[in-house]
Amino acid sequence: MQEQIVALFDKVASYFAVPFASWNSFLAAIGGVPDALLNIGTISAWPYLLSSMAIAYLLYLLARRQPGASPRSFRAFAFPREVYRHRSAIVDYKYVLIDLTLQGVVYVPVIAGCTWLSYKLALSLSGGAAASAGASLNPLADALILTVITFIVIDFATFFSHYLMHRFPVLWYFHEVHHSAEVMTPVTVLRVHPVEKIFNSAVGAFLGGLGAAAYAAIAGHKVDPLTVIGIDIFVFYFRVFGIHLRHSHIWLSYGTFLSHILISPAQHQIHHSVDPRHYDKNFGYVLAIWDLLFRSLYVPRQRESLQFGLAGTDPKDYSSVAALYITPFRKAMRHLRAPRSAAAEPAAPAGEAAVDLSGHKLVAPDK
Ligand SMILES: [Zn+2]
Ligand SMILES: [Zn+2]
Repeated sequence: MQEQIVALFDKVASYFAVPFASWNSFLAAIGGVPDALLNIGTISAWPYLLSSMAIAYLLYLLARRQPGASPRSFRAFAFPREVYRHRSAIVDYKYVLIDLTLQGVVYVPVIAGCTWLSYKLALSLSGGAAASAGASLNPLADALILTVITFIVIDFATFFSHYLMHRFPVLWYFHEVHHSAEVMTPVTVLRVHPVEKIFNSAVGAFLGGLGAAAYAAIAGHKVDPLTVIGIDIFVFYFRVFGIHLRHSHIWLSYGTFLSHILISPAQHQIHHSVDPRHYDKNFGYVLAIWDLLFRSLYVPRQRESLQFGLAGTDPKDYSSVAALYITPFRKAMRHLRAPRSAAAEPAAPAGEAAVDLSGHKLVAPDK
């Protein structure tokens, strides 16, 4: 254990040195804003924004056909002032500009170090990726298995780390930053605290390591870790089909049947709702099966009127960029310092645990 901690510090220190190796590497480290728009591996890359806009336009055309539809323009339909100029949206814009610029120098090295250690740990726990290698498959079967394993690993890791953040109070305080958005725009997807990013990456890398070991056992050779942790073709297509409508005011449901298989934008909006009926529902990213298994799936039968944000939390807690960074640490410290009985108090009442793991509830005793 001590060896691993020393190795982690070594790795993080070497990553921290990278941006300062040359002027070009420093510019690359602070170039998070253009990278977020141009790098197809990032969720906010331009093809996903454009395709979401195209789907929004189709929904606009459908809405205009409804009897009694208002004659508003596409701009008013897709970019209403009350959403895009809301104080919560303005905090999003400022936070994302600052966070993307600083992250490469300030905390991405920690993410990279934790990801590396987590992946190594999973490989060593699973006995080494090559140890159980069997006979090699043909290249097509090989590629297919890798794609499917990668997709399942990424999707379950995303679901599971999200689930854990709602389950444990200290993690919830950092995830609360994302839920504190009172209106949602595509920028809200990046309203994520650095600690949440570190946690997500570590969980993803750990499960990625287990996936790599499974792949080695099936395909007969090792896999490049970047392929397992990187973007998968299924995830790419999922992003193309309206990923940015999830963080928006535009309702897009997949219907009752498909919503049991894939998480629709409407289902993620329900995840952000302040209505107690919606607490701790729809943690999933692409597949709905994880929510089905964990009994947290909520499928809307019809269009629902939603209010986003946090119930029972002072809006001032997240009203500025500085607050988004600092408030979770303040709340987590207060929780950890609380006497054990008080710290245990937020647990859901007996019998409700399966459906009421809510961070919304967990926050209440802290106020
Ligand atoms: Zn959440
Ligand atoms: Zn969200």
